[in-house]
Amino acid sequence: MAQANELVLYCSVQEEWCRLMGESFQRESGINVLMTRRSSGETYAQLKAEEGQPRGDVWWGGTGDPHLQAAEEGLTAAYESPMLAELQDWAVSQAEASGFRTVGIYAGALGYGFNTELVDDPAPACWSDLLDERFRDDIQVANPNSSGTAYTLLATLVQIMGEDEAFEFLGQLDENISQYTQSGAAPIRNAATGETAIGIVFMHDAVAQAVTGAPITAVAPCEGTGYEIGSMSLVEGGPNPENARLFYDWALSPEAQALGAEANSFQVPSNRNAPVPPESPSLDQITLIDYDFVTYGASDTRQNLLSRWDAEIGAQR
Ligand code: PLP
Repeated sequence: MAQANELVLYCSVQEEWCRLMGESFQRESGINVLMTRRSSGETYAQLKAEEGQPRGDVWWGGTGDPHLQAAEEGLTAAYESPMLAELQDWAVSQAEASGFRTVGIYAGALGYGFNTELVDDPAPACWSDLLDERFRDDIQVANPNSSGTAYTLLATLVQIMGEDEAFEFLGQLDENISQYTQSGAAPIRNAATGETAIGIVFMHDAVAQAVTGAPITAVAPCEGTGYEIGSMSLVEGGPNPENARLFYDWALSPEAQALGAEANSFQVPSNRNAPVPPESPSLDQITLIDYDFVTYGASDTRQNLLSRWDAEIGAQR
């Protein structure tokens, strides 16, 4: 059966970047791109719901942990792109860890951003500063079920503190949380408008607000922080596999990866020859933990942490 001249793209970064990727690939390839944007955890859940009758071809973007979970569960397909040779080691490790069912496309450190017009001195600098009662109902973060950003926070705190201590911390932090948003970057957009004082997000999301003139300062927490390897996967049994591989190879090229900065997205790209935007928070100047992607991207670990979050934090709302 001939393939339709189509590509069904599931996209988990910011809408603006998703649209630019879809439009640029369509223009270059002549393939009609049908794009849907959903957060990382939501896209994983969609692939799971469509298991056996997949409708998507490529899942591009979003944090690596749910991509690894999808790989483990056979929801995504193995593919060794010729472009792997051009990628940073951290991007290739993600591919190797998953039997080549996923690959790293960008990296970025977790942190938070605060509105300088709403937060007095001393400025917060650590995770522990977020428990201060002066921030009562003035912090937002996403729900880790829907958002890869918020799952990265959960997994980061567990790795820094130990699981019980991390849930203790999240319980105390909950006193200061006004809202658990659906999408990972929403808290910093809300901090930029002054709806909340602090948003817990990837640092590049805070920078994206600051460069447009919002009074936002990005913080790399003093205790150290986790990071994401934003990822891409081919959907197992998707309707347009050849077009999917064309997109995959193109998305790993320096030209395609340079589109991020045009869409106001400042992650570090995975192709060694792609320009690193000058605005990107420099990963070697941030105290990063040795984030264990294999453990925290494993299906059991992710399910257990999310169930515990639902029971101890989410259910209290
Ligand atoms: N947008 C940007 C700029 C990101 O870096 C990421 C993480 O990969 C996401 C969105 C993912 O968003 P969410 O937390 O909603 O899954």
